[in-house]
Amino acid sequence: RGLWGPIEDIIFYAVLVFSWTVYIWEAYLAYRQRKIYRATMHVPTELGKIMDSETFEKSRLYQLDKSNFGFWSGLYSEAEGTLILLLGGIPLLWKVSGILTARFGFGPEYEISQSLVFLMLATLFSALTGLPWSLYSTFVIEEKHGFNQQTVGFFLKDALKKFAVTQCILLPVTSLLLYIIKIGGDYFFIYAWLFTLVVSLILVTIYADYIAPLFDKFTPLPDGELKSEIESMAKSIYFPLTKIYVVEGSKRSSHSNAYFYGFFKNKRIVLFDTLLEDYSPLNKSGEKEPGTGEENEAAGNESKSKPKVRNKKQGCSNPEVLAVLGHELGHWKLGHTVKNIVISQMNSFLCFFLFAVLIGRKELFIAFGFHETQPTLIGLMIIFQFIFSPYNELLSFCLTVLSRRFEFQADAFARNMGRSSELYSALIKLNKDNLGFPVADWLFSMWHYSHPPLLERLRALTGPKQD
Ligand SMILES: [Zn+2]
Repeated sequence: RGLWGPIEDIIFYAVLVFSWTVYIWEAYLAYRQRKIYRATMHVPTELGKIMDSETFEKSRLYQLDKSNFGFWSGLYSEAEGTLILLLGGIPLLWKVSGILTARFGFGPEYEISQSLVFLMLATLFSALTGLPWSLYSTFVIEEKHGFNQQTVGFFLKDALKKFAVTQCILLPVTSLLLYIIKIGGDYFFIYAWLFTLVVSLILVTIYADYIAPLFDKFTPLPDGELKSEIESMAKSIYFPLTKIYVVEGSKRSSHSNAYFYGFFKNKRIVLFDTLLEDYSPLNKSGEKEPGTGEENEAAGNESKSKPKVRNKKQGCSNPEVLAVLGHELGHWKLGHTVKNIVISQMNSFLCFFLFAVLIGRKELFIAFGFHETQPTLIGLMIIFQFIFSPYNELLSFCLTVLSRRFEFQADAFARNMGRSSELYSALIKLNKDNLGFPVADWLFSMWHYSHPPLLERLRALTGPKQD
């Protein structure tokens, strides 16, 4: 590295110092939050009606374990990233990719072929180094706190499938993008941006029908009270609902959720089976014996034969599910979805424009060990990931703040639909089922929470109306 000029050195160390600054800042925030987990041993009086002391203690221990895990995995990935930069891992991997490309000699576009090999190796490396961490998180932490529903075999098969599907999308998309940048001329950044816009629209369209079913089982919600009530609620706000699905989230974990997706006049709602009290397999006791009814009483649901069944009934009643959906559809009705898409596309355009301004600067490449060549893929990586990182941090903070505003607005929307008391109890149940900890450090929650703290949401639901 001795021959490097000062500008290159400044760029390199600025990137490194910034990355560590963010790391230390987040470690400090996590430390503040951990202090709260340690110190808040009893349910605060204002939460007495919301959480029983047993659930409170469970949630405290769960969050504490997760936070400690986050500390070690965060430290590891920061150290790994730093070592890769200091030891010249990126130019090394680029060289190896070049050797492999020359040996197998595929494709007329040498640099693009080399880029694809590089991308494959880089994603393989990150998948392999990440694997022990996600194994530990799933089979030690989630398992210990009663969330994990997967076997190691299912997990590994899933990871393999995910890797294969990612490659099938990433490699053709990247090669087309590199080709567009190469032949696009002066205004290549406009074409590149349009291309990523089209790709993301296609992905959103095919994801639910062709990609998500590779991983999870989606079944249409059977006819019944819940279905007809959801349909009439959708109709009342002109939500163009075409289908309602239940996804077998219980195969993975007992965390619960609901969402909608789709374009224009073709919207679908997806409910996790774990969200639905009557539907969740986790509420069904023991093995399936003939004569055992589908229903279980809330009490006496303990099963000794199957330890993975939790001993408390989980999920929401139908009116509560409708209130949760009222909140979700509020996001649509209030234009939150469109606003988020517009923001992310404006951001993507800005990034491609700045990329076009910066890509010709050789010192950026030299700073990261590319002295002779300036491969486009490496340029994308350096500029989007390293050079933009202060901007990315700022943007992600602003989006978190915005997201919390949207959550309050969606809650108010459900309230205006007359579903505030059901939403109130649903929020409490969901927090309990997911073992959310209801006390947060203000700085930690301001930085990380995409949803407002439980108590603030409950207060807003019962307090004076905002508009
Ligand atoms: Zn929401």
